[in-house]
Amino acid sequence: MKKLLIGNFKMNQNPSQTKQYLIKFVAGFNGNRADVVLCPSFVSLPISAYLTKGSLVKIGAQNVSDEEEGAYTGEISAQMLKDIGVEYVIIGHSDRRLKYKESDKLINKKIKTALKNGLKCVVCVGETLADRNTGKTFDVIRHQIEECVRGLYENELESVIIAYEPIWAIGTGQNASVKDVENAAKVVRKVIYESYSEKASRDIQVLYGGSLNEKNVGALLNCAGIDGGLFGKLSLNVNQFLDIANNIK
Ligand code: PEP
Repeated sequence: MKKLLIGNFKMNQNPSQTKQYLIKFVAGFNGNRADVVLCPSFVSLPISAYLTKGSLVKIGAQNVSDEEEGAYTGEISAQMLKDIGVEYVIIGHSDRRLKYKESDKLINKKIKTALKNGLKCVVCVGETLADRNTGKTFDVIRHQIEECVRGLYENELESVIIAYEPIWAIGTGQNASVKDVENAAKVVRKVIYESYSEKASRDIQVLYGGSLNEKNVGALLNCAGIDGGLFGKLSLNVNQFLDIANNIK
């Protein structure tokens, strides 16, 4: 099975920079060991979708509106993303949960709208350092997943990817341990098993994200129950991300 690697550029790179990045990435990516989804900013999405059309590289957005259309100034709808060739969307990233106060209820609505419009959803869950220090990690992940997938049909889970991203590990240089990641993946699959079926819990893709780098990526993405990774900082370096994408075991 190939690993699924997702690059979240966050609010970095102008469209002209993303263009140069993609020209290099598309030319250098062999697709032998991994599937890759790159998630640049909204304004870089049209050029990104254009440059990757017919290539092995898929494009994702970093956010989407929970509404279909209408008077929602500044929002971007799922159908707009779909129309320009975007295939994935990150929903519920901790930046959005913490800085923009997105709730599990809103995230659930975004997921439903995105799925209805044919987008694949990368749903982020993960605990804060305070949760971890008070032994609440698994309860927090469980609650987030239950609320985020509430009301989804089992067949819709084929288009849902769960990214376990402990908040204390994001952008801090402090990654979770193999044991932390394996235990979290077990909890994710247990919740899906209890809410759906054994098959759904086996089939759902589970990623790890949080300070992945060239040194820890091999161990963390080969943990039991983990299908790939969500990268922030590292994915901005085209040479490093290409190297991982082409060579990950
Ligand atoms: C992220 O923002 O989702 C992330 C994993 O960032 P970083 O790799 O920089 O920790």
